[in-house]
Amino acid sequence: MKIFKFGGASVKDAEGVKNVLHVLNTVGHEDVLLVISAMGKTTNALEVVIKNYFDKSKELHASLQEVRKYHNQILLDLFEDEDHDVFFDVNAHFDDLEYFIRSNKSPNYSFVYDQVVSIGELVSTTIVSHYFNYSGLKNNWIDVRPLIKTDNNYRDAQVDWETTQKLISKGVKKKTLNITQGFLGSDENNFTTTLGREGSDYTAAIFAYCLGAESVTIWKDVPGVLNADPRYFENAVLLNQISYREAIELAFYGASVIHPKTLQPLQKKEIPLFVKSFINPTLAGTSVSKGADLEPHTPCFIVKKNQLLLSLSSIDFDFIMENHISEIFALFAKFKVKVNLIQNTAISFSVCIEDKYNNFEELRKVLAKKFKVSYNENVSLYTIRHFDENAAKVVETNKTILLRQISRETMQVITKE
Ligand code: ADP
Ligand code: ASP
Ligand code: MG
Repeated sequence: MKIFKFGGASVKDAEGVKNVLHVLNTVGHEDVLLVISAMGKTTNALEVVIKNYFDKSKELHASLQEVRKYHNQILLDLFEDEDHDVFFDVNAHFDDLEYFIRSNKSPNYSFVYDQVVSIGELVSTTIVSHYFNYSGLKNNWIDVRPLIKTDNNYRDAQVDWETTQKLISKGVKKKTLNITQGFLGSDENNFTTTLGREGSDYTAAIFAYCLGAESVTIWKDVPGVLNADPRYFENAVLLNQISYREAIELAFYGASVIHPKTLQPLQKKEIPLFVKSFINPTLAGTSVSKGADLEPHTPCFIVKKNQLLLSLSSIDFDFIMENHISEIFALFAKFKVKVNLIQNTAISFSVCIEDKYNNFEELRKVLAKKFKVSYNENVSLYTIRHFDENAAKVVETNKTILLRQISRETMQVITKE
């Protein structure tokens, strides 16, 4: 079986959905499991709904209506007959969501978040599945939630691999086109969980691992993995072949074309990953597989924007390294702050962090009780793998450099633009 994953950009409108069908007709769809994300920027729009819900905002209803309208417009563009079952099925999901919002009593933000955002994937797969049937491509729609079991760490749930493996082996039909949701799972009480933002690539890897799939293809709006994000760097070039190791490094440093959790399950079973263009599906794209000889011979640039550079120094010249590092890291874990770079001296300690869950202010207060705290907000972290002098110039010219770190393969620079 092959696993295909289509992300939000590929199904952002009716044309996109039609194009997914075109891709399948071009490359084949027997014995395929299709993992699909929410359409376009739906997850962001649902995050606004959740914020409005917790803020008790007057905009709550309007923000929800906007998401419903967006999907209904796509339906109108795809189906001639407004009595088609798909209109009922899609709107039933929105009715369920409205009911949840009216009746929910849980004050747990992350729990509510997962119950609400999951609608995005449920609706997108419902639309795609109906549209394929309508166009003569029979398929099997699967609710992913009973198959991927997780803990109840809502918004960043961890997979229970043993149970998931058993459920997936039983729950997926062979020799058929299966369609299911990315990003979602469920906990032991069957409440919906999510695997972390952009987690649909990871879902594809979970299925591949559990089914021992032949390959995974993630279909993107770029020709494959490039040596730089084309949104920020001119003249990015395609990397034809890279090793799992290189792909993990690139994803870890923030090359958002592949979700960082995707590679490990694939590497364990040596399942190849292809990153291809949904615009030109016959092009080879990038293949990710085993082999140290697959390292790129060109510098690779990665940028993470909106970072915080935090520096802690001890108030009484106590050697910070020995005494406090584990304590500081325990706090980072507790406040779910992601650390992207570390640098320390005898009495001070700097980290580049990402405050995904808006916990920094609280964390800062706790740290300030023990350390002198200083920080720069809104800095960028540039990473260059396989750097050379020219590559460093590309990143550093016309920028204020706050910190630079160099190892054998990798150079990292924190800049203020
Ligand atoms: P999806 O629709 O699957 O969610 P994403 O938008 O998350 O896809 O990922 C594709 C985007 O990743 C591209 O449009 C590109 O801007 C960005 N990107 C970042 N780094 C790279 C890279 N090294 N190579 C290719 N694309 C990259
Ligand atoms: N829809 C989810 C998100 O936007 C998952 C994904 O797209 O991978 O984060
Ligand atoms: Mg995405």
